[in-house]
Amino acid sequence: MAYFDKDIETAPRERLREIQLSRLQKSVTQALKIPFYRDRLNENGISSGEQIKDLSDIRKIPFTTKDDLRASFPEGLLAVSKDEVVRLHTSSGTTGTPTVICHTKNDLNAWAGLVARSMVASGATKSDVFQNMTGYGMFTGGLGMHYGAELVGMTILPMGSGNTRRQLEYMKYFKTTIVHATPSYMLHIATKLEEAQISLSDLCLKKGFLGAEPYSENTRIKIENLFKIDVYNSYGLSEMNGPGVAFECEYKNGMHLWEDAFYLEIIDPETGEPVAEGNSGELVFTTLMREATPLLRYRCRDIASILAGECPCGRTHRRISRITGRADDMLIVNGVNIFPGQIESVIMRHPEVGTNYQILLENKGELEKLTVNIEISAAAFSGDIHSLDRLKAELAEDIKGAVIVRPEVKLHEPGSLPVTEGKAVRVIDNRIRI
Ligand code: AMP
Ligand code: ZN
Repeated sequence: MAYFDKDIETAPRERLREIQLSRLQKSVTQALKIPFYRDRLNENGISSGEQIKDLSDIRKIPFTTKDDLRASFPEGLLAVSKDEVVRLHTSSGTTGTPTVICHTKNDLNAWAGLVARSMVASGATKSDVFQNMTGYGMFTGGLGMHYGAELVGMTILPMGSGNTRRQLEYMKYFKTTIVHATPSYMLHIATKLEEAQISLSDLCLKKGFLGAEPYSENTRIKIENLFKIDVYNSYGLSEMNGPGVAFECEYKNGMHLWEDAFYLEIIDPETGEPVAEGNSGELVFTTLMREATPLLRYRCRDIASILAGECPCGRTHRRISRITGRADDMLIVNGVNIFPGQIESVIMRHPEVGTNYQILLENKGELEKLTVNIEISAAAFSGDIHSLDRLKAELAEDIKGAVIVRPEVKLHEPGSLPVTEGKAVRVIDNRIRI
């Protein structure tokens, strides 16, 4: 078993907690340099990092929300002088004011270290050829993964997103062994292999680092089968640097969350109270190593749980489950609560289902209508009309079983539904609310 930083990755829990406490004190001290946090903390009786005597004292600190961050646009929450800032990123959210996170040189080095650690945990080495297929702009996935891969010593193809044909050709020419992409893009390029006249045997692919958007275990299996690779879940958010927050090791059994860099709490999004051990809830992060923009108890809205038990890889940092949704992406259809991920999970179980789907919501008289548009595989598409009818009925039944609402299922030809280069847009909500 290879490690990038064995000492810290396998540190006994007791020692990890000591490191967390001293770093938490430093983060509070750092945050007190920002007027926003100084006021907030002072109002709650905290005027120095030393007042945090125990990790449980973190609960004396109020939460930070996305709106707090947005309110600081464009300056951001800055604890160092502007001269110390060497880069800034904004969140990739398509609506509303973006959030700004600034980084010092040390911040960027620490971030690259976390990503390198994540990649090595999956079994990556400097012999790998790494094709980075996500955007290299403000989106943190591109540069974040790039500098981590460089630290591991891999050969990087800094492709950026899009241009699928070239992605596939370069994969072949340069004998790419690891790709980084969103799961939806990976599904998309699978449909383009034939067109690019490339077969799996032309490629040397071994691993895929997939993240930046939610996907189900069934989608992982589908992608692993399509490309004959191992897929590792990669989780991050720009407010916590980007990638390198939590990542799967060779055992692919949940994502190790790097607890020396992030202090994690899981709360009930309604009450703000901690959930019972093992239950799922909203992830709340406190940065433990950041200089420019320390964030305390940041409510990120992603929903997940901590997995029980130790991982056979020897890493002591706890593992989190897949992100099952966001506290704010729940759909309410005819009064019933639905998470889009529930739909994905049941449809991807069917081998006849292809690589893309979309959920459409509309008004229908006084009610609301749920339509699920599903691409089917080339093989299923050439099948007879009766089997397609049967498939449609089965999918509708399965979706209803998962979300209670009966959907209309529409089957589509492979490659006919719209594709996005970045994060997939799975839900089109055309409902008019009066
Ligand atoms: P951004 O900061 O704009 O890059 O977006 C970060 C968000 O993307 C997170 O808060 C999650 O909602 C989502 N995300 C990132 N990685 C994953 C993943 N592996 N699984 C599910 N959602 C993810
Ligand atoms: Zn592990």
